[in-house]
Amino acid sequence: MSTFSLLNPATEEVFASVPSLSLEETDAAIERAAVAFESWRQVSPGDRARLLRRFSEVVDSHLEELAMIEVENAGHTIGNARWEAGNVRDVLAYYAGAPERHMGKQIPVAGGINVTFHEPLGVVGIIVPWNFPMPIAGWGFVPALAAGNTVVLKPAEITPLTAMRLGELALEAGIPEGVFQVLTGKGSVVGWRFVTHEKVAKVCFTGSTEVGSKIMAGCADQIKRVTLELGGKSANVIFSDADLELAAARAPGGVFDNAGQDCCARSRILVQRDSYDRFLELLEPAVKGFVCGDPRDESTEMGPLVSAAQHEVVRSFVPDGAPIAFQGTCPEGPGFWFPPTVLAPVGRKDRAVTDEIFGPVVVVLPFEDEADAIAIANDTPYGLSGSIWTRDLGRALRVSRAIDSGNLSVNSHSSVRYWTPFGGFKQSGIGRELGPDALDAFSDVKNVFISTEE
Ligand code: NAP
Ligand code: MG
Repeated sequence: MSTFSLLNPATEEVFASVPSLSLEETDAAIERAAVAFESWRQVSPGDRARLLRRFSEVVDSHLEELAMIEVENAGHTIGNARWEAGNVRDVLAYYAGAPERHMGKQIPVAGGINVTFHEPLGVVGIIVPWNFPMPIAGWGFVPALAAGNTVVLKPAEITPLTAMRLGELALEAGIPEGVFQVLTGKGSVVGWRFVTHEKVAKVCFTGSTEVGSKIMAGCADQIKRVTLELGGKSANVIFSDADLELAAARAPGGVFDNAGQDCCARSRILVQRDSYDRFLELLEPAVKGFVCGDPRDESTEMGPLVSAAQHEVVRSFVPDGAPIAFQGTCPEGPGFWFPPTVLAPVGRKDRAVTDEIFGPVVVVLPFEDEADAIAIANDTPYGLSGSIWTRDLGRALRVSRAIDSGNLSVNSHSSVRYWTPFGGFKQSGIGRELGPDALDAFSDVKNVFISTEE
């Protein structure tokens, strides 16, 4: 059996290896999922709910173990990794309440009754990237299972360990064999098989826009359902009437969290021109004070990048002679370290301004007025998240409505709560995850008319 070695991104040491599944092994797992579906869909809503609650409790009792695995495998800070494991627990607990509440409608008609049912789709394939291995897995597999589907999940090749552990914990919680399987291996082999295999009814993909576009095209062959969560180049728009001190203090967290490897990273800071210089003055100490270091240390705010390949990508955005306004610090020596970096002044069409960097690099641009801010914010094929800083409530609402983006926050950088919908406009994706309606994306509506005529 072929295997794949895993590196600790903070040390570059190989610490584990995992199986890389073949096409035949992938097919066998999909067949098992298809068989398991026939019985899983028959499990009563109350029993499915109980199993998901138990799964949540088992995750809770392994929180620290899961967090430590992520620190070693992905270089996440221990604080973030604990939050991420807790997010899987909470998503399980939230959707454990869903099977008994996934209600259809009774619609008035003449000559009988008309009711709708939400039918599960069958086998759902979930493809997860390396940036948030636990939460992104959970946002897919949990509502999929709650709706009565079985799941095959492919983690990113370089960060499979927490997903593999979650697969074991599911069995420990009593989720039947074959209902939730984690398949490790290559995207081009295991992931692509989800697209082409006729027994996979839906693909839920998070990752690059490039691969997402291929997945959507591939799914078209079988009119396969697809949800895509793709890249972003989100704007952090700061008006002169905002609390500038607070906006500057929070801006680093809004882009450098997870070393900037976040599809919601606010990687374009737009500042109203008359506050631009003052904002940069305030931003400098916040960036220089952003603590980058050993991810196992409780006070660390940012760890290394996930891989040498990602380090190479990020470095290409900061070549010699790049307009570095100021930079934070990071450890030297082994590890894929990159310091928090602020680029300014930059042109509106510079590559660092238009492309997703997926690293701790942010650009700062001035804007003239509300219309200009909206125009720059929307001048991107992406539309995932963004922030607006202002004390003017009317402006906050006008700009929120005008920015073409799925998840906005005002005077804050929070965008993901498991009980509110999450997803992208434009090339940031299609469909929504999380929130009260997540099960709808993992079921089809069936309409049944029952005649009462004699
Ligand atoms: P990616 O290639 O899109 O990978 C995401 C997932 O898709 C991984 O599990 C990957 O497996 C799998 N995959 C790759 N090719 C596939 C294919 N042909 N068919 C089915 N599945 C496939 O992303 P990446 O290469 O890791 O990162 C590249 C860039 O994408 C980043 O620099 C960033 O800009 C963006 N990105 C965005 C997000 C997001 O949350 N929106 C997340 C990650 C990356 P393997 O791991 O085996 O390749
Ligand atoms: Mg790739």
